Amino acid sequence: MTLECAIIGGGPAGLTAGLYTTRGGLENVVMYEKGMPGGQITQSSEIENYPGVTGDISGMDLMMPWPKQCQKFGLQHDMAEVSRISKKSNLFEILKSDGTTMHAHSVIVCTGSSPRRAGFKGEDEFFGRGVSTCATCDGFFYKGKEVAVIGGGDTALEEALYLAKICTKVYLIHRRESFRAAPNTIKRVEENDKIELVLNSTPTEVYGDANGVSGLKVTNKNGNIRDIKVPGVFVFVGNDVNNQTLMQEDGSFLCDVNEQGQVIVDLSMKTSLPGLFAAGDIRIEAPKQVVSAAGDGAVAALSAISYVDKLLNERNKI
Ligand code: FAD
Ligand code: NAP
Repeated sequence: MTLECAIIGGGPAGLTAGLYTTRGGLENVVMYEKGMPGGQITQSSEIENYPGVTGDISGMDLMMPWPKQCQKFGLQHDMAEVSRISKKSNLFEILKSDGTTMHAHSVIVCTGSSPRRAGFKGEDEFFGRGVSTCATCDGFFYKGKEVAVIGGGDTALEEALYLAKICTKVYLIHRRESFRAAPNTIKRVEENDKIELVLNSTPTEVYGDANGVSGLKVTNKNGNIRDIKVPGVFVFVGNDVNNQTLMQEDGSFLCDVNEQGQVIVDLSMKTSLPGLFAAGDIRIEAPKQVVSAAGDGAVAALSAISYVDKLLNERNKI
């Protein structure tokens, strides 16, 4: 069986692409998602900028109904990791990590992005044992304790606010004087008594023992080292795009990407390769928002529908 469309990734972009492709008439549409659908927003403790959503809801609450809505129109979910997408003649080949393959007339890549590591000593060694990139997942372990948060963007500040509700104190460590988060978020952080700002400071080493982390050393711009005794360190220093599925056996990419590996698309979410579309955080100039990822998914789906219609109509004429 050849799929009319394969969607890789089941975050806001992939799920919306699934909704629009199936509701728009494509048949045999499969969304490949290696985990539970919902994407990275399910790690967020709160979302207040998705239109129409008011009140305190988490990213998980927001995403919960999306898969059910898509399934109603026929979207199939294969809980599988895709290793590589390639194209032979007019057909895409989807290679899954279990070694099996599927074929599709069109593909929408929505694999999003993943948290970056800051690169200080001990970060990898203590990852999962005191070093974390998910406050919603791990914050509870530090109830009534002090923690450190690293980063100066929206994620670091929002998650510092979340942790301040659970922990006795949050050290917010940022390498510069000013933050790059939304002004309202910065204001809330500055007004929170439980958050101590440790500015112009870079983490140099997290240390501990077999039981986990016991402290973090940070160096300020004057070279002074401060030892912060905390059992938990949360790292929020940005994301890298998940473009591995586009990497071919010879190391080239299936379509054009920029120097950061982000997929180059036009306003219709078309990549440089006909039939291949990209949506959400993986694309160039992505605003990295749930609402824009969902919007991209819809646009990519409409483009995929017209591509497949044209392809199949031409074939029928022959
Ligand atoms: P993702 O959400 O990253 O989804 C990609 C999916 O693809 C994942 O589910 C992944 O498992 C899957 N996948 C990856 N590779 C493969 C593969 N090879 N095979 C199969 N599946 C694969 N945005 C807002 O608008 N408001 C907020 O308040 C907000 N808060 C945030 C808080 C946090 C902590 C984080 C991390 C992000 C936040 N964002 C927020 C940003 C928002 O979550 C992202 O912009 C959005 O989720 C991007 O959607 P996406 O579908 O492009 O990718
Ligand atoms: P980000 O905006 O890229 O910020 C990363 C932060 O980490 C920056 O402050 C950066 O410092 C710092 N940093 C980077 N590398 C570091 C290192 N090696 N050591 C120490 N610090 C380091 O990432 P983000 O906060 O995860 O946000 C990603 C995107 O998602 C953004 O577009 C953001 O707006 C969006 N987002 C939106 C919301 C929302 O709308 N509510 C919530 C979360 C995320 P510098 O400032 O010095 O570069």
